[in-house]
Amino acid sequence: MSALVESRLNPSLAAYDAIVPAGEPWIHELRRSQIPRIVDVEGNQAADTLFYNAHDYADRYSAQDTIRAQRNIYLTTGSELLSSQGHLLLTIVADTCGRHDTLGGACATESNMVRYGLETRHMHACRQSFVKAVSEWGHGFEKRDITHNINFFMNVPVTPQGTLTFADGVSGPGKYVELRAEIDVVAVISNCPQLNNPCNGYNPTPIRVLIWDPS
Ligand SMILES: [Zn+2]
Repeated sequence: MSALVESRLNPSLAAYDAIVPAGEPWIHELRRSQIPRIVDVEGNQAADTLFYNAHDYADRYSAQDTIRAQRNIYLTTGSELLSSQGHLLLTIVADTCGRHDTLGGACATESNMVRYGLETRHMHACRQSFVKAVSEWGHGFEKRDITHNINFFMNVPVTPQGTLTFADGVSGPGKYVELRAEIDVVAVISNCPQLNNPCNGYNPTPIRVLIWDPS
């Protein structure tokens, strides 16, 4: 499944426009009908992302429900991102990359050590960025709320035998994914600092986040 669709929205008319530096977290509340866009500025960068119902953090993005409902393991234009309680959180409305992963999970220091060796213990990971973001956000948000994530711009093809492969990125400079918030949601992004697999091309780079108000 790949549905390349360009957006007609003009970046100069966005209500919000920010750069998230390589390896940094980002957290923001999106109101219903707002349109966020995530841009892979330099290409080959993974944006690990969590979504929550802004009025109930226990109701959060569910990879399992999303995959089952759309009967496909990859996310692209038209994908409806469902919550653990069956609510539609956001819809992907444009995508110039074509495929996004939601099976691979986020990197953590623990999984890095298992996969890449004990010497990676001190390397920064997405899970720490998520914890930092939600801790600073407050409102009762905490570590235990961090569950399923989406890896925007990340390529994790599944072989006919069912094997997950962390492949080189399908993304490139300036490619983006754009969504529409269907209810009020909190979005948390870890601009992935991973240096041990090709998800960032071994070189983490900035992403850009724009948000448009409904017209
Ligand atoms: Zn990561």
